[in-house]
Amino acid sequence: MTILDGKALSEELIDSVKEKASNLKPTLAVILVGENPASLAYVKNKKKACEKTGIEYIEYKYPATITQEELLKKIEEVNQDDNVNGLIVQLPLPDHIYVPEVIKAVAPKKDVDGFHAYNIGKMFLSPEFEDLPPATPFGIVKLLDHYDIPIEGKDVVVVGHSNIVGKPISMMMLNRNATVTTCHIYTKDLAAHTKNADILIVAVGKEKLITADMVKDGAVVVDVGMNRREDGSLCGDVDFDEVSKKASYITPVPGGVGPMTVAALILNTIRATERQNQP
Ligand code: NAP
Repeated sequence: MTILDGKALSEELIDSVKEKASNLKPTLAVILVGENPASLAYVKNKKKACEKTGIEYIEYKYPATITQEELLKKIEEVNQDDNVNGLIVQLPLPDHIYVPEVIKAVAPKKDVDGFHAYNIGKMFLSPEFEDLPPATPFGIVKLLDHYDIPIEGKDVVVVGHSNIVGKPISMMMLNRNATVTTCHIYTKDLAAHTKNADILIVAVGKEKLITADMVKDGAVVVDVGMNRREDGSLCGDVDFDEVSKKASYITPVPGGVGPMTVAALILNTIRATERQNQP
């Protein structure tokens, strides 16, 4: 069994674009609303990665009471700011903010999270159009590619169908000629599907959802889940200790998909800047 070391690869990828960053001088802006502890931790990691790469990082912080109009106004201001190349509105947002409107408001060319319908739509068409793909799925593809794990012709099972992970990673696997099954809360018999997976990608947010009896011998297991236990430790959706005895490759949590998401954001920021600099 091989651990898919997202932390090491993330550092390698960040190192590999330092020179480009020093020529391009990109700027990434993050809008942070409220004090959600997970968001504060994610934003801290993004800032650290920008500093390591040589990307200028700007943070706009607002209280959870910000109105939707005020937030949309700020997004438009950043959209118009030629000094900013990438813009992230950190999710989740308070309940009174309508997230689809917020995602729609970010200029597609600065949408380094890859959530805007324009970028999702392009990704739908073919891998050549994956200019700014959603960061977590992009990170997963980079991780599989780095370990030379073939995707074409494989049975890929994705558990979870969110707009930011489950649906886009399903599409990116289909773009690479996998046979894809996407499972979710309405799936009648989850184990019947997961047992067939050559590559199993789990993005739900439930500790130990995937147990060893649900996994085929030799499967590649990618655990996107990020769950905080009562004692403060982090774990994924997969029972790592048991499943790792059957898997051929598996991502740890932490140290797997999380750092790859950050690396993908950095790559997207560089790519967005390059495209904005094109005549
Ligand atoms: P989400 O929007 O809550 O989506 C969860 C998905 O799982 C939904 O499709 C849901 O279906 C499905 N689901 C819920 N219970 C299920 C069950 N028992 N069996 C099968 N499917 C079930 O979450 P998300 O944003 O995709 O995130 C998923 C997890 O990944 C979270 O733990 C999150 O923290 C983590 N995450 C990690 C990273 C990273 O960088 N490592 C990035 C993003 C997310 P319904 O919608 O029908 O309920």
